[in-house]
Amino acid sequence: MLSLPDRTRRGRAAAGYIAAMTVRAVSPDRLSHARTAAATAGIDALLVTPGPDLRWLTGYEALPLERLTCLVVPAEGESFLVAPGLEVPAVEASGVPGLGIEVVGWGETEDPYALVADRLATASRVGLANRMWAEQVLRFRAALPAAEQTLASDVLADLRMRKAPDEVDALRRAGQAIDRVHQRMAEFLVPGRSERDAGRLIAAAILEEGHQTVDFVIVGSGPNGASPHHEVGSRVLESGDAVVVDIGGTTPEGYCSDCTRMYALGEPPAEFREYFPVLHAAQLAACAQARPGVTAESVDAAARTVIAEAGFGAAFVHRTGHGIGVETHEDPYIVSGNTTVLEPGMAFSIEPGIYLAGKHGARIEDIVVLTGEGIERLNVTDRDVVGLPA
Ligand code: ZN
Ligand code: ZN
Repeated sequence: MLSLPDRTRRGRAAAGYIAAMTVRAVSPDRLSHARTAAATAGIDALLVTPGPDLRWLTGYEALPLERLTCLVVPAEGESFLVAPGLEVPAVEASGVPGLGIEVVGWGETEDPYALVADRLATASRVGLANRMWAEQVLRFRAALPAAEQTLASDVLADLRMRKAPDEVDALRRAGQAIDRVHQRMAEFLVPGRSERDAGRLIAAAILEEGHQTVDFVIVGSGPNGASPHHEVGSRVLESGDAVVVDIGGTTPEGYCSDCTRMYALGEPPAEFREYFPVLHAAQLAACAQARPGVTAESVDAAARTVIAEAGFGAAFVHRTGHGIGVETHEDPYIVSGNTTVLEPGMAFSIEPGIYLAGKHGARIEDIVVLTGEGIERLNVTDRDVVGLPA
């Protein structure tokens, strides 16, 4: 998908407390690798509030509350998790205690920031979770005035980017789940039905096919397909529409899916039929380029060159892809300027698009994971335009 990470949060919120109560067992290696990497980076402690970093480190899907919950991972010494007293039962029911993390509950009249600061009195540099709220950042700054603040991604992005085999397995299952939804698209895309009504049915199918939350549903029909950020609207599907369907969710294991396919209700416009093969070739070119040892930006260039040489360069208005894992968008970004060298275990989308404003648009998106030599595609349904009854 192309939208902002906080849209993912909205999807989780809509799914409610089911996600929050899930116990996900994660490998204790993640915590120990984070500690070692923090020490190497000269960071005395990581401060991790609810969000993707906390989910990745502990499996704990904490509610994002104004009361402070914060995992503290010191470079030396034992990790502990500060949580509101009333959340302690939920913490204890999560995977946190199994990782040997001390749980420190705080009472309603206590200052949890002082509680953290007391234990980090000598810290000169702390890494804050990238999705930490501004209120928490500033209160930590006040509580730890001698500690320089940096981003936890200095340590965690590299670790999260290289997926362990259990994470690749989880992403593969997420890919299979979203593929099953795409295979049912004839049920949902019917002439005379609005994008919004089709989107509701697709959202239900995303849950039915094995996701725990719906993160986003994009149904861009006809001219709406030319807006990469279009979600669903009141437009009614018509005969002759090309339809962009970009959908994703999060599985009970905590890993995200994201896949775009193109559909046509009857015969799509001639111009669309002209550029779609270009897009398809561009997606194949990027997939052929992606392998260990090449840069992220070279994968973007592979897709962009094909589209530009066909004269549609100005219509490819976004980067070619993004990493995916416990967040829909994470490192590595497949974009010009990113010289990150790709390695086995990295997982990301390859999703070039061509968008003609006011007319129609197209995108093809697969999640791929780097193997020893090339890629494994985690989405395997037909990448050609899928014709549906008009
Ligand atoms: Zn997508
Ligand atoms: Zn995507």
